[in-house]
Amino acid sequence: MTDTFFRPVSGMQMPRFAGIPTFMRLPYVPEGHPREGDVQIGLVGLPWDGGVSNRPGPRHGPRQIRDYSTMIRAQHPVTGIRPFEAARCADIGDVGPNPVDNPDTLARFERYFASLAQRGVRPLAAGGDHLCTLPVLRGIAREKPLGLVHFDSHTDLFPAYFGGTTLTHGNPFRSAVEEGLLDPRRMIQIGIRGTMYDAEDRDFARANGIRIVTIEEMFDRGIPDVMAEAREIVGQDPAYLSYDIDFVDPSVAPGTGTPEWGGPNAYQSMQVVRECAGLNIVAADLVEVSPPFDQTGGTAWLAASLMFEILCVMVAAL
Ligand code: MN
Ligand code: MN
Repeated sequence: MTDTFFRPVSGMQMPRFAGIPTFMRLPYVPEGHPREGDVQIGLVGLPWDGGVSNRPGPRHGPRQIRDYSTMIRAQHPVTGIRPFEAARCADIGDVGPNPVDNPDTLARFERYFASLAQRGVRPLAAGGDHLCTLPVLRGIAREKPLGLVHFDSHTDLFPAYFGGTTLTHGNPFRSAVEEGLLDPRRMIQIGIRGTMYDAEDRDFARANGIRIVTIEEMFDRGIPDVMAEAREIVGQDPAYLSYDIDFVDPSVAPGTGTPEWGGPNAYQSMQVVRECAGLNIVAADLVEVSPPFDQTGGTAWLAASLMFEILCVMVAAL
């Protein structure tokens, strides 16, 4: 590819600590930009945490992840993939939420992602809390349900909290299955752990054929074996990858609202994504980074590194 417009600013031209921090130092190509129609993979921020039920903060995630993502270089250390040469990637900006009106925000996000899908842009989104995933799926998966690889310490399959019909970050995947946006038989949730209110999420998974891999099973069997099963379940049809940063052990990634002990270390947190190679990932997100709880910035730096891992999988699927 000779078109250099979509290459990140080189650290040899402008040091990586300098300049405006777009995602991975990619060009900023918001709606209406003349090169908008050429973007293949759009890195997009969802600065919204209206679905948080406990400790807030992920609305600040995209800005912090952008900042740390300027440390990302051009080439994957293991596969040799150079994603910014293999595909036209861009920072396509933030989708503006309405921070005081959840239904309005959900509608805004859905419209945005429906329009992206129409233009053929594949999104890699940075949240935001996990409820952000629902309007993304509503925007891109109306016509045909997607498969799902989901890394998280929670299933996010719970019924509405507080007895109402309220959507929260505890139930996006339940809603997505009920709305026909995800094919439950092509869903796998990995890393599940932590104390529970009850087992309503597990009951829903069992009734719908969703595969749950607890953290105990993941460590007992080993990551390569579990991920081979994930590739089997999800298959070759289009699939979504959703990565909740609380999948990672809070000793490594404390900057999140609902941490659970006993998770993977940083190496393992990247290994699971590398093992997604070969899957047909058409869209993805990295959610629940909460900068107010991220005192060292290490959580945002890991999140940026995970987004690079995910991007390499998405580029290979183009
Ligand atoms: Mn989650
Ligand atoms: Mn979680």
